[in-house]
Amino acid sequence: MTKLSRREFLVTSAAVAAGTTNSFATSISLPWHQSALRWGQTNLTEIDPGRIDIEFWRTHWKRTRIQGVVINAGGIAAFYPSQVPFHRRASGLGDRDLFGELTRAAHEDGLAVFARMDSNRAHEEFYRAHPDWFAHDATGKPYIVTGLYVACVNGPYYREYLPAILREIVTNYRPQGVTDNNWNGPQRHQPCYCANCGKSFRARTGRALPTRVDWDDANYREWILWNYARRLEIWDEFNRVTRAAGGADCLWVGMMSGSLNYQSRVFRDDREVFRRTELIMLDHQRRFDSEGFAHNAETGLRLRSVGGWNKTIPESMAMYHLGEHNFRLATKPPAEARLWVESGFAGGIQPWWHHLGAVQEDRRMFETAEPLWRWHEKNQHYLIGRTPVVSIGLLWSQRNMDFFGRDDAGELVDDPWNGMAQALVRANIPAVPVHVDDIERLTGELGLKALVLPNLAALSDAQVASIRKFVKAGGGLFATGMSSLCDEAGRVRADFALADLLRASVPRDHGWRDPARRAAQAREWSQTYLRLPKNTAERHESLRGFDGTDLLAFGGTLEPLTLSPAQDLSLSFVPAIPLSPPEDVWMRQPETRIPGLICSEQGGRVAYLPADLDRRFARDQLPDHGDLLAALARWCLRGDVPLELDAPGLIDCRPWRTRTGEWVVHLLNLNNANTWRTPVQELVPTGPLRLRLRAAATRAQGLVNESQLPVKRRGDWCEVEIPRIEDHEVIVFSS
Ligand SMILES: [Zn+2]
Repeated sequence: MTKLSRREFLVTSAAVAAGTTNSFATSISLPWHQSALRWGQTNLTEIDPGRIDIEFWRTHWKRTRIQGVVINAGGIAAFYPSQVPFHRRASGLGDRDLFGELTRAAHEDGLAVFARMDSNRAHEEFYRAHPDWFAHDATGKPYIVTGLYVACVNGPYYREYLPAILREIVTNYRPQGVTDNNWNGPQRHQPCYCANCGKSFRARTGRALPTRVDWDDANYREWILWNYARRLEIWDEFNRVTRAAGGADCLWVGMMSGSLNYQSRVFRDDREVFRRTELIMLDHQRRFDSEGFAHNAETGLRLRSVGGWNKTIPESMAMYHLGEHNFRLATKPPAEARLWVESGFAGGIQPWWHHLGAVQEDRRMFETAEPLWRWHEKNQHYLIGRTPVVSIGLLWSQRNMDFFGRDDAGELVDDPWNGMAQALVRANIPAVPVHVDDIERLTGELGLKALVLPNLAALSDAQVASIRKFVKAGGGLFATGMSSLCDEAGRVRADFALADLLRASVPRDHGWRDPARRAAQAREWSQTYLRLPKNTAERHESLRGFDGTDLLAFGGTLEPLTLSPAQDLSLSFVPAIPLSPPEDVWMRQPETRIPGLICSEQGGRVAYLPADLDRRFARDQLPDHGDLLAALARWCLRGDVPLELDAPGLIDCRPWRTRTGEWVVHLLNLNNANTWRTPVQELVPTGPLRLRLRAAATRAQGLVNESQLPVKRRGDWCEVEIPRIEDHEVIVFSS
């Protein structure tokens, strides 16, 4: 890979900033996958060859300053006259070579071209000719999705047919690379029992394919891992094909989702894929109410933390409405689109607009991208090639999603993760996702002072050892729920692997040992409480701020853990009481020794929260839950947070350090109406805000309101006042 010198970088950005060109090709010292930052895509429909106005789109490419374009080539429908048997042409294509025309136009305009495939499904005539190339269930019934047949990843469809198409496209059209919308084949709920799968699985394991979902069966878990391994093989094989036909930089890149839960269900291994690819095409088009806008910044950070801080991650951002219900031909409310895109910027993601269909009657959707993409072009120097300024890491792993989450990953993994991440955003504690196999690398690179395990149960012995090493060296640890109770295959251990650090052990008959019981407990709600010690002077310091109460609303269920007799409980569990009739609402058992929170100092500070307040915060959004999670994170950090913000309401802050030494702080205004419930309908300004950053800076500049801000220095810190933020602001501090 070409290394970018500072000089080359400045020359490149100056050329782009001067508006001399939007061409990826001007950045001669960089391969296209590093220099093409802004993307666009018009997803063609079957009738588009008869109605597309190519000049309209060329103008739109120029207006939005894109450097790369995704153009439909093949898969379900070919947009060029393919010679590969069964590669069916789009119904409206006729003899036209629309992919060729668009590719030529894009190349003339200096754009990188990603040929788009949508490879996994095919029409009935193909299935009839080669039924053995398609996935089928144990009874021989094919899997049919949206009327199309799902191809098997182990047969000739993936081994011969798709490579032939890739070779044809790359040889004839010379795109910069090929990207595929749907490449992973059958999903976890669609096990294939074809002869090729049986043979391949037996070759790996010596056993027959598992016949049913049984997470306790080693053969079923092996089937999961075998599925992941095949997708990685496909990644490598398809890259060999495109590179052999188009040169070393002709990449094949499968699209990826930003939802780890979804990635698990389709066998796409985030860490392994992002470690091997030069560029990530992220198909993560919109926010969900359960995650909020901040999830986009978090996704960018999570992928960068495993893939490398300098890789390009364009993200497909729908300009049409996606929400609880989708309207692919109607404009997404612009405020909603803006905040999603800007949260992506805050996480180091690059913009990629997406329209569905070459002709749009709701023309308002063409106005959304231009100002954002132009802002990105102008400020790209500050938006790429940087590392986050953070002191706390949130630990994750996909095996935990698979083998601990099983079929209840939403409750067991997503909810605790979301609640914890949202509590930190709400408290302006910048965090970075850390894969459990990257603890040593990332704590070293980023200087992390504490790690959080949000109900991260499945850990290997080696992963446990690296957590232990971190704490022994003085790092803080904040663990919740069942953290460290399972091995990497999701099997319940004899005790927490971190029992000594957590200061608690799990009795033999505990409900957490039974997958059905723990999933039921995670789903349920009842009127339970957590009790604080009566004497406020004896309370743990993380509970300051709760002096006005002896109890906190809870909602979850806790069973006894084994503790040393002298162990103080910072919070204890009060079991469920009736909700009604009112006469019955009193505590039957107001005091217990069932721990809700245990705090200890063992080299580093360790807070163990058996109470699932992270999950509860994701569900109930009670401010006490968010406040306590944040207070515990701060306590584990010994207060070491690199940033402070005085502002009303909710602002998502993401600080970074560029390779040229500036500090860049993104501030996303989440006080706007409907920011927690999609879609946002109006941007409501907020301000003034006071931002303090631990940085030796003397100058500060806003990249959105484009003014210099006076900097006050206080010791290691600098402070600025930001008069007003509408949707977002980005402050660059320099010395
Ligand atoms: Zn198969």
